[in-house]
Amino acid sequence: MGKIEYIKKGQCIWCLKSKPEVKFYTKPHTIPKTLNSENIGFDICDSCNHFFGTDESNGVVSYSIDKITKEFFNVHKFLLSTKNSDSWKKFKSQFFRYYHTSQKLKIKVDYFRRPSYANEFTRKFKRGIYNIFLQEYHRVTENALDEKFNKIRDFVRYNNGDIPLHYLVSSNGVRINEDLKKPIQLPFNEYTIERIDKMGYYDFMMTGLFFYLSVTDDAVYNFETISNEAKNLIGSGFVFTKLIELKRIDQIDFTLRNWNK
Ligand SMILES: [Zn+2]
Repeated sequence: MGKIEYIKKGQCIWCLKSKPEVKFYTKPHTIPKTLNSENIGFDICDSCNHFFGTDESNGVVSYSIDKITKEFFNVHKFLLSTKNSDSWKKFKSQFFRYYHTSQKLKIKVDYFRRPSYANEFTRKFKRGIYNIFLQEYHRVTENALDEKFNKIRDFVRYNNGDIPLHYLVSSNGVRINEDLKKPIQLPFNEYTIERIDKMGYYDFMMTGLFFYLSVTDDAVYNFETISNEAKNLIGSGFVFTKLIELKRIDQIDFTLRNWNK
């Protein structure tokens, strides 16, 4: 009996290589396993899968793309969950430190003293978001090999170029309630898929954080529409306050004041 291969189109959506040049035996979690253990993809070769999950020995930021993404959302989930003082004692994070007196969670400053570190860290977080997007898109549509996603491949897999990630800043103290025990999902349906084709945008909310991804070259021509949509969502500013292009990860607000009750 042969080993299971995680394959449908027979070509890796990241490096575009096929068998026998590459193999497809590693179970590819399209979303880091601790955030969603259910969604298993295909057409992600063993070496690309390994690349996303393995820390680098050189490079400004050694942490793997998977680790940065997973840690970030886990910490945010923890913040939103019901806690007592004991939960805080148990709180451990590689990237965040909790300041009890000010009740603030901050990204460990050591990491952010150097702008080059902060930039690289933010870049890896962005690559992680686009990584999840393309793997989930392929799991649902089987169309990620389309050349319109070449820019995402270059950015995520080879660290070339840059793709903006827009973020809707939350009003201090307000988070939209989601069931935190549910695995993280990216919505794909007829509407979102058509929106990608027509606008080049894909947006989703994860644990109350709202992101707009520029997934194809069309996005740049449709920014005004997206910006107007965001304005409507913002409305009086109760839940969200403004749309920004994420330049540094600490633009995502982790202040606990008002909402850690
Ligand atoms: Zn590959």
